[in-house]
Amino acid sequence: MTSGWDKETDVVVIGYGSAGAAAAIAAHDAGARVLVLESTAQGGGNTLVSFGGFMVPTHLDKAIRYISGLYEFSHSEKDDELIRVFVEESSKSIEWLKSLKQDVAVLTYGGASYPSITGAETIKRYAVKGAHKGATAFAQNLWQLLSSAVQEERNIPVLTGTPAKRLVTDSDGTVSGVIARTQEGEISIQAKRGVIITTGGYGFNAEIMQNYVKGSPIYSLGHPGNRGDGLLMAQKAGAKLWHMNGVSCSFGIKVPEFESALMMGIGGDGQIFVDKSGKRFINEATIERHAGLLAVDFFDSNSLTYPRIPFFLIFDETARLRGPISRTVGLGSAGIRYSWSSDNSKEVDNGWIQKADTLVELARNLNIDEAALHKTITQWNSDVGRGDDTLYGREIPDDRSSALVANGPFYAATIHPCLINTQGGPRRNGKAQVVDAFNKPIPRLYSAGELGSLWGLIYQGGGNIAEALAFGRIAGVHAAGERCYISVLPDTKGDMS
Ligand SMILES: Cc1cc2nc3c(=O)[nH]c(=O)nc-3n(C[C@H](O)[C@H](O)[C@H](O)COP(=O)(O)OP(=O)(O)OC[C@H]3O[C@@H](n4cnc5c(N)ncnc54)[C@H](O)[C@@H]3O)c2cc1C
Repeated sequence: MTSGWDKETDVVVIGYGSAGAAAAIAAHDAGARVLVLESTAQGGGNTLVSFGGFMVPTHLDKAIRYISGLYEFSHSEKDDELIRVFVEESSKSIEWLKSLKQDVAVLTYGGASYPSITGAETIKRYAVKGAHKGATAFAQNLWQLLSSAVQEERNIPVLTGTPAKRLVTDSDGTVSGVIARTQEGEISIQAKRGVIITTGGYGFNAEIMQNYVKGSPIYSLGHPGNRGDGLLMAQKAGAKLWHMNGVSCSFGIKVPEFESALMMGIGGDGQIFVDKSGKRFINEATIERHAGLLAVDFFDSNSLTYPRIPFFLIFDETARLRGPISRTVGLGSAGIRYSWSSDNSKEVDNGWIQKADTLVELARNLNIDEAALHKTITQWNSDVGRGDDTLYGREIPDDRSSALVANGPFYAATIHPCLINTQGGPRRNGKAQVVDAFNKPIPRLYSAGELGSLWGLIYQGGGNIAEALAFGRIAGVHAAGERCYISVLPDTKGDMS
């Protein structure tokens, strides 16, 4: 092998989710030899445990206006050039997916997460149709299409169970290869044109989470392979970080049976949320699904606690019998492994949901003030009766009885903010090049996907997979277009972990 390397190729892609697959396909189709590294036993990452939707803009300028609005309201850092490139490229995603295989069909299922922002009508969410069933059917359809385009149609080698450990850089900072760990030991792989990092986020890296994201504890619903490896590798190569406090965060319950939490799409009829003092704190029905953390990360400097982490979902027997308390059962890394019972009885029996004959007993079990919980429920039921939520203006359904919390026994689930995914990481430019602290591209280093995402504090649903597909393609094309670069493997001993 040349100059001390164990393997050589043109482009190394680190991480095999939708961004990695799109990057590999695009680099291959642009004429490069490609090798994909995946740390876990199977590819798919967060992509495969997701809902699988992706946003597509129907009008470029108006979509740019809408997406820009998300940053203006949240005061997150905005990159106009990146937004423009994203909107232009993601408008081609349906056509690109259809080019991967005959008879690919898509459907549209939703739109803008924030309909009041100018340009919202130009945001549409799509999913790939297919044979799969269940909550992750669209994700499976998408992944089957992408992975067969990588492995079957193009024969691009994918080394699973092979985590990248370090980037190899030359003395001038040029990224020339990757050190990866195989079962036989570490190997060095020369990348003659470029390296593309698509390792997803850092939801399972407690140290990174603690340093950048406010609120505790926060669990993750996603793929346990997303441990921030790519972030650390890019940092060592000199990358500028951004959007590190940006997370797409829903609610969930954490049980010891699974490393990931179970996603809870809650706030439906007959469900109210109370904090640790037994009081309601929000209109439960209007929390945007990806903005859960923003609803609960309030820190009380008097009690020295996060009074809403965890909070409690309270409901009664009527609501229990209505169906699974979560609208999102079956999504997420734990969700795909667990079958939630239709009347929540299994979850009551195994202790994930607490049951009590009276509100007093329920409050005691939750260690919250009995009188406060009683007052909260009494006020809620009285507001429901009058059709007016006097505290938070929550809409009361026409069938008022469905909103009551009155028919014992009573139930509570302990709810934590749970990450759908993180958004932060190395910043990239419009060519998907990772940039350094002074916005200068780090030679031959690219990234795509949720790692170093363009999304900040406020997120548009379907935006992450859209970005993974768009910037995966951009990264693949540009990395493949680099001039061939031959380097000698530097002495990396002592630089491994
Ligand atoms: C429950 C749920 C629902 C969601 N629904 C949607 C949705 O409908 N629409 C949407 O846009 N987004 C959704 N998301 C978010 C979306 O799934 C992700 O942001 C997106 O799939 C990220 O794609 P990616 O390719 O960047 O990363 P991933 O798909 O996570 O892939 C990263 C891969 O890199 C691997 N890896 C990590 N470290 C290394 C290493 N050192 N070496 C080699 N490989 C490594 C990981 O194991 C993983 O396989 C959802 C997420 C969840 C959890």
